[in-house]
Amino acid sequence: MTPSGERLQVGEFEIIRLLDGTFFVDGGAMFGVVPRTLWEKRAAPDRENRIALALNCYLVKGPGVTVLAETGVGPDVDRRHIDFYSFRREPGLFRLLEERGVRPEDVDLVFNSHLHFDHCGGNTLRTAGKEWTPAFPRARYVVQRGEWEQALHPVERDRPSYIPARLRTLEKSGALELLEGDGPVSPGIEAVLIPGHTAFHQGLKVSSGGRTFFYFGDTVPTSAHIDLPYIMSYDLFPVETFNSKKKLYALAVAGDWVVSFSHDLDHAFGTLVVAGRGAEFRPLAP
Ligand SMILES: [Zn+2]
Repeated sequence: MTPSGERLQVGEFEIIRLLDGTFFVDGGAMFGVVPRTLWEKRAAPDRENRIALALNCYLVKGPGVTVLAETGVGPDVDRRHIDFYSFRREPGLFRLLEERGVRPEDVDLVFNSHLHFDHCGGNTLRTAGKEWTPAFPRARYVVQRGEWEQALHPVERDRPSYIPARLRTLEKSGALELLEGDGPVSPGIEAVLIPGHTAFHQGLKVSSGGRTFFYFGDTVPTSAHIDLPYIMSYDLFPVETFNSKKKLYALAVAGDWVVSFSHDLDHAFGTLVVAGRGAEFRPLAP
């Protein structure tokens, strides 16, 4: 089993990858227009042509602040999603937080790259009375306004990706904070709009002590997706994903950023070097 927590120090911030679970997705869908003869060299498919993926969450602990980027699929994952994607969640995000001494009320800020069900499933929990309630009672929940509107009013194409009933809980509780484009969310921590997977998808940037950590979200779901044309079929705006990747790689290489992915099982952290028109991934030594 891949280790469920790897850590990185970025100046005053400690960043830990926490795995909410694993799942399987068709390799063709994961790599879009790229033929299997090419992608299978980077991600070996099983007999059903599926590749194994992680539900990565990143815990960011800084001076007086605890941030959680993504909450995985959560404990209340639908039966139909379990059957379709073979989700496995033991021990899952909440147990891993507990093992590290982080209580739900310790989390100040929950950051979601976007609101597809596999990224914000742990935002809310169901109480004994079957009501939805925020899983982190003191946290601000930070998301782009455009993504929020899309999630509550999805078009037919992306309706299966959102669960609006759970999301409305955050609005009712007053915990929701809607962003409009790039901007700081806490000292040293910034949201960066990176359109492509959805129109208002965002990445997370943490800077301290001359070092930068960047979380790509679904713009680059795994290290096998580093090449510019390796874009998921799920992306609503693939041309924008391509452009977003190109722009970010230039910044990541120039600034020697440590980068991370939403669904990479094997690599929690790495860096990028220039290769051809794009970049090449170098895992960070444990
Ligand atoms: Zn995803």
